[in-house]
Amino acid sequence: MSYAPSGRTVTAIVDDAIGGRRISAGDAHQLLLEGDLIDLGLAAEEVRNRFNDPGAASYNIDRNVNYTNICVYKCRFCAFYREPGDDEGYLLSFEEIGKKVEETLALNGTGILMQGGVHPDLPLTYYEDLLRYLKSEYPEIHLHAFSPPEIKFIAKLERMSFYDVIARLKDAGLQSIPGGGAEILVDSVRKDILAYGKTSSDEWLDIMRQAHRNDLRTSATMMYGMGEGLEARVEHLQRVRDLQDETGGFTAFISWTFQHDHTEMEDVPETFAHEYLTTLAVSRLFLDNVEHLQTSWVTQGKKIGQLALKFGADDMGSIMIEENVVSAAGTAFKMSQDEMEHLIRSAGYEPKQRTNLYDRLVTREDTAELAAKYRSSLTAANRELASSPLPVIG
Ligand code: SF4
Repeated sequence: MSYAPSGRTVTAIVDDAIGGRRISAGDAHQLLLEGDLIDLGLAAEEVRNRFNDPGAASYNIDRNVNYTNICVYKCRFCAFYREPGDDEGYLLSFEEIGKKVEETLALNGTGILMQGGVHPDLPLTYYEDLLRYLKSEYPEIHLHAFSPPEIKFIAKLERMSFYDVIARLKDAGLQSIPGGGAEILVDSVRKDILAYGKTSSDEWLDIMRQAHRNDLRTSATMMYGMGEGLEARVEHLQRVRDLQDETGGFTAFISWTFQHDHTEMEDVPETFAHEYLTTLAVSRLFLDNVEHLQTSWVTQGKKIGQLALKFGADDMGSIMIEENVVSAAGTAFKMSQDEMEHLIRSAGYEPKQRTNLYDRLVTREDTAELAAKYRSSLTAANRELASSPLPVIG
């Protein structure tokens, strides 16, 4: 398959995408090279409206729980991990994770996104026990957890297949799998950024395939701007689209730009808003089998995150009660539910809170009882997220 620019005119490619005719990876490359940002945004919005309510944009309330920062890998783009034995390494207790769940519920949350470094000493039973603990203590919370690098490591440690590991985790309470660890699904790039060991492109995709075979939905992600070039980005998009054709198991596609502070790749030039919005719009035009595209306001900031709703995204992602990975690379944002809704409304859409799987809308009445039950567990740092101050955008 060729990932080189197709040579077709931008107008012809955009017309095809708007008309529901599939565009090629070469077409996507052509758009990334030559497409006008505003034209791409308008076209992406038309495609977005084919899949989603044109008058609404969604968000969810969940919490990133990084149960450990200890990791056997050393991805060059990562500022979060600590090597085994490092004084700054941590592994949260089940009770500490439970407290984070309580805070999430207190803030009208419905799920947690739990992933860590790849800890060398945790057997499959550790993950099963953790899931069972959380499900028995907090049956209402959706458990979206353990990205492909963690699944691969468990499978290797236990000498089990990906399918069987995922089946065991599902049996213990796992409800969906986050798309972390994809970065760029091109092995030469993965080798360059030292992400090949944690999963090759085929392994990442196969773990997602096995999750889908287990009837678990997953998300798909792309992190770009590490010097990989446009051809690698369109190859990544192609591989995501191919697997989605095969399984239909991806709920959403989430892309963001590499945040380089405190990483080994600080010298890589930053990727700015124009490229982010162009890539988002082209992704929307290319991924004609993925229903939802999220903005990444956590990496782009609230203003660009909001604007992304006009470039093909239909969902703002989470309010981010806690985030440790991107913030380790020097980018830290949080917002209250009120501010999230203000942000969406002022972009011209009706805000709708959704569940992790996009299968249900949630109202504040739905979450009020549990929020009241756990309100006292809110830490000072998060208390402001529960209040209703005048929304501030900035
Ligand atoms: S990105 Fe994940 S796997 Fe890579 S070093 Fe960081 S924590 Fe470890």
